[in-house]
Amino acid sequence: KDINMGWNFDNSYARLPKVFFSRVNLETVPSPEIAVINRDLAISLGLNPDELQSKEGAYILSGNEIPKGALPIAQAYAGHQFGYFTMLGDGRAVLIGEQITPKGERFDIQLKGSGKTPYSRRGDGKAALGPMLREYIISEAMYALGIPTTRSLAVVTTGETIIRETKQPGAILTRVASSHIRVGTFEYISKWGSIDELRELADYTIKRHFSYVKDDNNPYLSLLKEVIKRQALLIAKWQLVGFIHGVMNTDNMAISGETIDYGPCAFMDTYDPETVFSSIDTYGRYAYKNQPSIGAWNLAQFAQTLLPLIDDNYDKAVKLAQDEILNFIRLYKSSWISGMRAKLGIFNEEVEDENLINEILNIMEKYKADYTNTFLDLTFDKLEDTPMFKSLEFINWYKMWQARLKSQKESKKLSKKLMQDNNPAVIPRNHRVEQALEAAVKQGDYTVMNKLIDILSKPYAHTDDQIEYSKPPPKSSCRYRTFCGT
Ligand code: AMP
Ligand code: MG
Ligand code: MG
Repeated sequence: KDINMGWNFDNSYARLPKVFFSRVNLETVPSPEIAVINRDLAISLGLNPDELQSKEGAYILSGNEIPKGALPIAQAYAGHQFGYFTMLGDGRAVLIGEQITPKGERFDIQLKGSGKTPYSRRGDGKAALGPMLREYIISEAMYALGIPTTRSLAVVTTGETIIRETKQPGAILTRVASSHIRVGTFEYISKWGSIDELRELADYTIKRHFSYVKDDNNPYLSLLKEVIKRQALLIAKWQLVGFIHGVMNTDNMAISGETIDYGPCAFMDTYDPETVFSSIDTYGRYAYKNQPSIGAWNLAQFAQTLLPLIDDNYDKAVKLAQDEILNFIRLYKSSWISGMRAKLGIFNEEVEDENLINEILNIMEKYKADYTNTFLDLTFDKLEDTPMFKSLEFINWYKMWQARLKSQKESKKLSKKLMQDNNPAVIPRNHRVEQALEAAVKQGDYTVMNKLIDILSKPYAHTDDQIEYSKPPPKSSCRYRTFCGT
């Protein structure tokens, strides 16, 4: 083929020792067709969006054709799933290469749902259209919300029917990530690789994501510190928008600090710290309120793998690592509090702020208020006649809050602007996402979805056409459940 589309691949991961991955021969699919394509992302990757959208593009994004320079591999990794250690690996995803963008950045291009790999075990390696479109919508919404995340370049339908609980159209998502190195990758090498291979993984990771620590006294301790920082920031951002990942297994925690693996994730409507959506999370391990402590738990697994690199003296290494894990809690909390201050229009720091924040959350919980919309109502002074806004607790809180705002030097106007920039008008609400998927999957009508994607692309714009999309689900709707592995 003489059209190149702008692919500019390197394959640095495939140059690592053999234990890290397996070569894959991609399966072909009967009739690949583009369902949705991310033209802006294509351009930023240096790809020609028109060519990508063509028949040839669909062939590449389905794995039917391998662009020049690509080298399909499945990455090996392990992980703690709901607390239990197990071998995993890319069972339904293939890394075709690392795209070097015109700016010189490196991004993994991964086909998710492209068929069996040596790590598929009993699975078919395939994916259904609904869940791939769902990942596309939610990951791109996360990006628009300013939250580090893997991104979605396209979804293609394969023309196959795959068997789940029901028959489903098959699809492949092209996932773009700054890398797919996971806590689980370190766990895998730590358990089954040699110390030299472990060091090689750590050095590779430092080079790829944290090159600024390479000359530190103890670069492996610095690596731990940096990963902890990024996760603290990430999880604080999730909490601030009410995002529930749903399956925070260690294989689903990216070392880069990007949100990865949109399986049973969902956004919370009514504020309730106990919220769990995932149908398989029976004990609420991954409930909203547990995300920060699970983050710490996962990072402790990561730290464990680095111990032999951190210091030859085991006790000393443990002590150093433990201090960093404790620091995670501090970092998380300070990011979360500063995010909350911004949501409330507060610029400077005062010790009393934590109380003010917790108090409004308690009131919201008591009155089962919508999380996102309560902050919007505060932003736009829409304190209507709801039981919450009429309650004594709220009226008292409101006085305290107003006094707090007056005590800072910034004007009321600046404070409002800060709130608008930190309180999204729209989040991908479950009922809206379901509606869009229903139209796309059942009727082949993508207009609902494309409109939703457009609305979600500017969450801080606060435009009139977003108002309809900011409404919570109808009260009668039953408890929302999410599924993974489909
Ligand atoms: P996840 O729940 O997406 O984090 O996936 C957990 C593990 O199951 C990973 O190793 C996946 O590659 C694998 N997996 C999930 N779905 C399939 C499938 N349909 N076929 C093969 N492997 C799968
Ligand atoms: Mg996963
Ligand atoms: Mg998954």
